[in-house]
Amino acid sequence: MSSNHFDIIILGAGALGVSCAYELSKSGQKIALIDQFTPPHSKGSSFGETRLFRQAYFEDERYIPFLKSAYQHWRSWEDELKSSFLYDNGYLTLFNSSSDIAQKMHKNAKKWNISGFNLDAKQVQESFPQFQNDNNFSGYLEKNAGMLDVEIIFEKCLQGFSKAGGVCCFNETVMDWKEDSENFIVQTQKEKYHCGKIIFTPGAWLREMPLLTEMKLTVKRGVQFWFPPPPVPFPKEMPCFAFALDKNYVFGFPPLRSGIKIANYHPSDTIEDLSLNRETYTSEEFNSVHNIAHQFFPWLPSKPSSFHVCMYTLTQDEDFILDYLPNNRNILILGGASGHAFKFIPFLAKQVSVFFPSGNDIPQELRFFSLR
Ligand SMILES: Cc1cc2nc3c(=O)[nH]c(=O)nc-3n(C[C@H](O)[C@H](O)[C@H](O)COP(=O)(O)OP(=O)(O)OC[C@H]3O[C@@H](n4cnc5c(N)ncnc54)[C@H](O)[C@@H]3O)c2cc1C
Repeated sequence: MSSNHFDIIILGAGALGVSCAYELSKSGQKIALIDQFTPPHSKGSSFGETRLFRQAYFEDERYIPFLKSAYQHWRSWEDELKSSFLYDNGYLTLFNSSSDIAQKMHKNAKKWNISGFNLDAKQVQESFPQFQNDNNFSGYLEKNAGMLDVEIIFEKCLQGFSKAGGVCCFNETVMDWKEDSENFIVQTQKEKYHCGKIIFTPGAWLREMPLLTEMKLTVKRGVQFWFPPPPVPFPKEMPCFAFALDKNYVFGFPPLRSGIKIANYHPSDTIEDLSLNRETYTSEEFNSVHNIAHQFFPWLPSKPSSFHVCMYTLTQDEDFILDYLPNNRNILILGGASGHAFKFIPFLAKQVSVFFPSGNDIPQELRFFSLR
């Protein structure tokens, strides 16, 4: 096989592409991972130091078995890659009585036997003095949850991929691809590659690709804000956290490398042009985070120390897409991550590595990710 011929090409080295590259490379197949930038980069959806891992999923309980499995896969990856990137620091949700998110989370935790504790306002104050709880909100602490270190995950998975013989083609934009009688030809601005199979993991750029024009994908701006640690001594042990107040859901992370990070789970601004302005944020974006978080962190400054604009790629029902292109078992599409896919990546990659190389059926339990 010549140097530009591969068994599989993965188009897009964000969280989904890198995880599939690592998992598939274990089988000894020849794989290329192509990206227009060098990952992890700030222009897609996988940037910003940390991502949350949690299991009492309020979004949809069909995802809970996948999360239980993903938790085990994260631990296996840590063993294989001789590294730590899932912190078990827990996940504390503070909520008021009208939050339906908290109600769904409670219901699913109970039903699926997910370990956690209810806390009344006094217990919240005693156990977690980092949060000022003047309004006496109740809390729920999920135990097998916490933060994922994005930068280490990218570094270690890419190292594992290269060590297994995987080829990284970074700073190369895929301009065109076509199928001939034997294989696919993938053309970047620098090179022509040949392969037997393709996985498309292009994140928000999936919206622009002709292969899926009939699919309605919406891309939104999601801004992550970092704040410096507080002026008073801050107890070291701090869980990831969320404030579920009425319809609002603001979530955050204790300091890892750059201070406390806080973001709004429901960004509102739709992006038309993917080369969006990342240099600034709007007052609405900031206030939607600050107004809520300030109630619990009164020391929070009125300006962040830094921020990052990311993209959410939403399908209409906010379920991911994991499917073959119609009538072609050599092309897989994995995307539409809808702002919640990072925590699943070892699970999704493992699934892909099992059915895709041989063109087998997609497992029944993943069929709700099919192209609709
Ligand atoms: C602000 C924010 C917070 C989030 N928080 C969480 C969280 O706490 N927990 C969680 O589980 N999930 C979270 N998510 C969701 C998660 O981060 C995303 O679902 C995931 O990172 C999406 O990864 P991706 O690989 O689909 O996309 P991307 O990371 O954008 O990767 C797509 C890649 O394809 C490349 N590409 C596209 N077109 C081409 C081309 N023509 N040629 C070459 N390369 C190309 C791009 O350069 C890019 O690198 C969050 C998302 C955001 C935006």
